[in-house]
Amino acid sequence: MIAVEGVVKRFGTQTVLDGVSLTVAPGEVVTILGSSGSGKSTLIRCINGLERLDGGRITVDGLDVANPRQLAQARRLSATVFQLFNLYPHMTVLRNVTLAPEVVLKRPEPEVAAEARALLASVGLADKADAYPAQLSGGQRQRVGICRALAMNPRYLLLDEVTSALDPEMTAEVLAILGRLASQGTTMLFVTHEVEFARRISTRIVFLDQGRLIVDLPTADFFDPARGLAHPRINQFLSKMT
Ligand code: ATP
Ligand code: MG
Repeated sequence: MIAVEGVVKRFGTQTVLDGVSLTVAPGEVVTILGSSGSGKSTLIRCINGLERLDGGRITVDGLDVANPRQLAQARRLSATVFQLFNLYPHMTVLRNVTLAPEVVLKRPEPEVAAEARALLASVGLADKADAYPAQLSGGQRQRVGICRALAMNPRYLLLDEVTSALDPEMTAEVLAILGRLASQGTTMLFVTHEVEFARRISTRIVFLDQGRLIVDLPTADFFDPARGLAHPRINQFLSKMT
């Protein structure tokens, strides 16, 4: 389980996360919604141990991310895909996917390459294994990014607006893959502006408002006019979306 407990994060005098608590249990798809600047990416970065906390605690299967040795172990349990395709430009698609399992997990190259090819085939990129990132479309690159995360066989998949730089057609390609992963029981923490998609795949939806997590509800309750939608901020947010 990912457990975020009373997390506070400040940048200078600005409190960006203000006592945020959240859990992601195995098998759940938890979506984080919230306006631009509400702290969603910062929360993902805190879970990855990329930011030092000013208060509270984050554990991944009991490993405290504030402890360097435990963080190294925790990082093997979760994999993150970011908004901007951060593939290595000088490596082929296949190498981008095989690098971490070989170098970090020290797994044998033939086995890792076979798995990577199977992953690429599963997202429709079997024929792109030897291409370089610059030769791919944005949607294809993001699908490689997802393969690269999955190649580490993570227990938790963290996704930060992985479709926001894509056009509608490429977005649909990537969401189709995430939908399939969700239906296969992949545990995900999902930051997105794709509200309708989140509604279909999420077990729970949480809403961040200016660094405070104001609602954490099962998906159906989130969209219930008497529950989640009863919050003026959420109502306002969703009405701007559609
Ligand atoms: P978006 O939907 O636009 O991606 P977000 O919810 O992901 O927004 P964050 O990127 O987490 O928002 O940023 C939250 C706040 O923290 C913003 O006001 C931002 O300017 C500030 N912030 C984020 N990173 C830093 C940093 N490294 N230094 C200073 N301020 C930062
Ligand atoms: Mg963000």
